Amino acid sequence: MTDLLLRDARLWGREGRTDLLVQDGKINALGDTLDAPGAQVEDLDGAVVIPGLVDAHAHVDKTLWGGPWVPRTAGPGLAAAIAYGAERRAEFGIPNADFITALLTDMVASGTTHARSHVDIDPGIGIGAVHAVREGVERLAGRIDVELVAFPQTGILASPGTAALLDEALEAGVKSIGGIDPEGFDGDAERHLDLVFALAEKHGAEIDIHLHDGGDLGVREFDMIIERTRALGYTGKVVISHAFALCDADDATRARLIAALAELKIGLTSVAPKKILPLRELDEAGVVMGIGNDGVRDLWSPYGTGDNLQRTQWFARNAGFSKDADIELALEAATFGGARLLKIDGYGLGVGDTADLVAVHGRNPSEAVLEHHKRKLVVKNGRVVARDGLLV
Ligand SMILES: [Zn+2]
Repeated sequence: MTDLLLRDARLWGREGRTDLLVQDGKINALGDTLDAPGAQVEDLDGAVVIPGLVDAHAHVDKTLWGGPWVPRTAGPGLAAAIAYGAERRAEFGIPNADFITALLTDMVASGTTHARSHVDIDPGIGIGAVHAVREGVERLAGRIDVELVAFPQTGILASPGTAALLDEALEAGVKSIGGIDPEGFDGDAERHLDLVFALAEKHGAEIDIHLHDGGDLGVREFDMIIERTRALGYTGKVVISHAFALCDADDATRARLIAALAELKIGLTSVAPKKILPLRELDEAGVVMGIGNDGVRDLWSPYGTGDNLQRTQWFARNAGFSKDADIELALEAATFGGARLLKIDGYGLGVGDTADLVAVHGRNPSEAVLEHHKRKLVVKNGRVVARDGLLV
């Protein structure tokens, strides 16, 4: 592999400007005016350099990206959205490897080097979405790593036959198992969670549960997840996505839940909705949070572009962040936070770390997040994979 010399970077966390030398897929040296005969040289012209963005909560199997514009006509509420998605997907050939490839292409071009994608598993499509996403990822030929979560979008109890299909997906190598509103949607939190944890244990899988349920119900479900995580020794292997109940809880309850999340290393993900997780409080308690794009241009929502830097700006804005330190904390969630949840080895900006890097115009990371210009350069495993917003 040809060496890569990145000149004149504003490296996140380092004063002034620096050159980076990349050899054999890793950051080999940092310093002023490095010399590397024979290396491919890229002049970054003072661009901010951050590690590869980690989309910690995606649904690339659902996307219509690159396909038709479909005006959304679903009724209000979660159950209506789930039914609408399941009813109309066949009409547009969802999951569709071409749409998935189009979305992954734009994710790479905007600097995402790793993603965790939930894939729908249900009796209507079986585990077909697993194959469709894998095909899309293969077409990107090493430009992005995508790990999968077997996701019971239409419920496990509410959709008979799904438990066996989740089992099949995990057997086929899917890394994690999902869940969805165990009581609020699936009607029996005990049974739903027992099934999810039992399947996880059987396959040595990790867990990432969608929890939209808010209020006291959501708090009870938090407690049930915490209880099972502790009892089964699942420390560091559970993530709760959305986690709105944490926003609803009173101060004492929230503090109690956050302490338990920290103790059991239960992570959280946010897709930057209006009801926003208390990132500063989580960070101070040692709870890891990642940021993701959720569904992009699908039957659920017309929003999103796959750009996790744009999503980070949404998070910062919805959280009411205006100080640089807070905006950078959101950027940490979209990079290092997601990397910790996905357990990515060698992730970072130090010598010896994997060269997964993004260069973006800005005088500092906050400006880069708020303006999120087209990415000047994206490097994956030491190889340039995108330049000026286009795949290379
Ligand atoms: Zn989701």
